[in-house]
This record gives sequence, structure tokens and C-alpha cells, in this order.
Amino acid sequence: MFKAILFDLDDTLLANPMNAFISAYFKALGKYMAHLIPPERLVVEIMRATQEMEKNDGTGPTNQEAFAAAFYPTVGYEQEILEPIFEQFYTEEFPKLQYLTRSIPEARFLVEWAFEHDLYVVIATNPVFPCVAVEQRLAWAEVPVTEFDYALVTTYENMHATKANPAYYREIVTKLGCGPKECLMAGDDWDRDMMPAATAGIPIYWVTRPDDTLLPIPPMQKIKGGVLVGQGTVESLWDWIGRGGLAV
Ligand SMILES: [Mg+2]
Repeated sequence: MFKAILFDLDDTLLANPMNAFISAYFKALGKYMAHLIPPERLVVEIMRATQEMEKNDGTGPTNQEAFAAAFYPTVGYEQEILEPIFEQFYTEEFPKLQYLTRSIPEARFLVEWAFEHDLYVVIATNPVFPCVAVEQRLAWAEVPVTEFDYALVTTYENMHATKANPAYYREIVTKLGCGPKECLMAGDDWDRDMMPAATAGIPIYWVTRPDDTLLPIPPMQKIKGGVLVGQGTVESLWDWIGRGGLAV
């Protein structure tokens, strides 16, 4: 019996070409902060501080704290000075990146269905972004937090590990108070969505893009206790659930 469904966001609920998006994001952020930090330096330091977040294993600081400890001292500004400017960037400039993304009708169908069936719905997006950036992308996907009372939206403020680490999935399960086998994780990224979730004992559905030919499924024997319940586009996931694939 499933009690919770975990959705990845980018390229699962929201079509988002990540290479183009990240490149445009850094360009916009670099420009916005250029009066304080040279753009090339900013990107290098954000990437380095992100690697520090990626080392988080669920037992130590929040991802935000890990980022702050690695980032602010090296760029030479107090967190209290820079953080409000980052926040301003996310309200003023980040919304302009929406044009790079595209909503997917079935994403909203899936979220509505999950709420209608009293499931806990978790937005399991890699928690390396602040809440404000995640909530905006949810609005672009047409599944905004103003309409859906998610059990959890993972952000860098509320998590202590990132998605490549099974500890991230264990933290979600603990926060929900249910067993891993009572959850389903749906996502497009084998290394961040599928493998670590399965390692944490969560059944998985591998979401592919419509133009993808189905990829060969890596050997499941590498995954301790994992169950791949299906593979296909978000539309296929919607079909599968509509046919009663997810016993609820
Ligand atoms: Mg993704």
C-alpha cells in the first residue's frame, strides 16, 4: 500500500533543459552580482560550495549551512551582506528564466490525482537551491505551493544531504513517518533519482523524455532492495497510474 509519492521537478514535472537553464542562470546571477564579485569567480565559488553541499550525509549541517560555510568566507563578504542580494535576485531576475522551461499537462494531473487519493506528495528536487527558487519552478510547472499543500518540498534550507546520497531519501522517509516501501520515487535522473532512492529501499519509476528512446536499464542487482516499477514519459506514468499501477 503506497502512502507517499515523491516527484523530481526538473525534467519530470517541468520540462527544463538543464544545461541551457544553468548556463542562463549563472549568466543572470553573474551580471546581478558583478558590482561585488567578478562573474567568473562567482561561478567557480558557487560550484565549489555546491560540492561541499554534495558531501553532506544527513548527519551534519543543513545544505544551506554547508554552502554558507564554504562560500561566504572565500568571496570576502559576510553572509548578512550577500544573502539579501541573492534573495533579491530570486525575486527580480530568476522569474525571467521561465521562458526556457515548459509545463507538462500530465504533471498537474499526477499531482491532483495524488492529492485526491490522500497520498503524501513530496517535491523531491535536488536541495541545492533556496525555497524561493524551487517554489517559482513549481509555479512554472503549474503545480504551485499556493494550490497544493505538499507534505514536503525539499530545499537547501530544510535538508541535510543532496540527492546523489541515499541519506537524502532516508531523511524524506523519516520526515514523512512512513516506510520506504510505502513510497514511490518518480524521476528522470538515474544517478540522483533512481539509484539512491532504490538503495534507500524506495520503489522507483524512471521518467524519460518523449524524444528519448528507452534506455537500457542498468543492472538492478547493484541496487540493494530496489524495485523498478516502470519506465517511460510522464504521460506514460500517468497512464500507468490511471490503469491502477500504483495500488493505493
Ligand atoms: Mg530531474
